[in-house]
Amino acid sequence: MDDFLHGWQLHANRRPKLLIADDQPVIIRVLFELFRESCDVFMATSGAQAIQVCQTEMPDLILLDVVMDDLDGHEVCRRLKADPTTSGVPVIFITSQDQEDDEVKGLELGAVDFIVKPINPVVTRARVRTHLTLKLQGDLLRASALLDGLTGVANRRKFDEDFQADWRHCIRENAPLSLVIVDVDYFKRYNDRYGHQAGDGCLKAVARALSETLRRPYDTVARYGGEEFACLLPKTALPGAVSIAERMLAAVRALSIEHVASAVEPWVTISLGVASVAPARDLSPAGLLRAADEALYAAKLAGRARVNVAFGG
Ligand SMILES: [Mg+2]
Repeated sequence: MDDFLHGWQLHANRRPKLLIADDQPVIIRVLFELFRESCDVFMATSGAQAIQVCQTEMPDLILLDVVMDDLDGHEVCRRLKADPTTSGVPVIFITSQDQEDDEVKGLELGAVDFIVKPINPVVTRARVRTHLTLKLQGDLLRASALLDGLTGVANRRKFDEDFQADWRHCIRENAPLSLVIVDVDYFKRYNDRYGHQAGDGCLKAVARALSETLRRPYDTVARYGGEEFACLLPKTALPGAVSIAERMLAAVRALSIEHVASAVEPWVTISLGVASVAPARDLSPAGLLRAADEALYAAKLAGRARVNVAFGG
């Protein structure tokens, strides 16, 4: 197996997606034969079709013919780069030898490379391999920038992004959005008693227990602060969110991590604040956050190791 393909399988757990857009079927056929074993290949025979496939398939790389009848390659590239959902897709232009000006124009439009007709299989393969490797590295870097280094769950930045996105999504879908804020009880005492390394281990175990409680792919848990976690539950009303919070409380208790310095129980426990809202344009995500925070604060005042619910959040 090609090295670059091995990297894709290992880190992305899939084959790269390659879009070939050319109005000459013979070119498409040649390129398809070159890459069908290493990539999932998509094909388009017009500029309009290329844009459509980009939006539905989100390819990892496009081989884009410059000269096409309807939208030429430059215009396709311009439109892809102008759309935030497709602007990250790298473009390699396919040009003819007599189109040197096209290369300058293509670079200015954000293309990453060129291949020249007639297609040289060795050169084409090498360039595609290089740019698919770069695409994978970029994807991995972006993903890791959104993860909390210690626990592996989403970080605060990712939480902020998801919160905004979920808020808008729930407005569109006319669906409720719930938020659970979780705090590890007497965590400072835990660190003082057992050391920071054990403290790190404790946070990792808690993060894993919280994640495992969530079953739907769009529910997310994030590390919100030092020993605070936040769980976003789109399309979940208050009763559902409360039952998830109760399961989280039980899951962390079931870890049975010794904590003799805790004033509530002799093992690690958490306090949880739950709030739910029907997002609307005249409300703000900050209000939901505040309600969940206040509910958490009340849970602590009431003796910790419990779920507390905000009403009217
Ligand atoms: Mg053409």
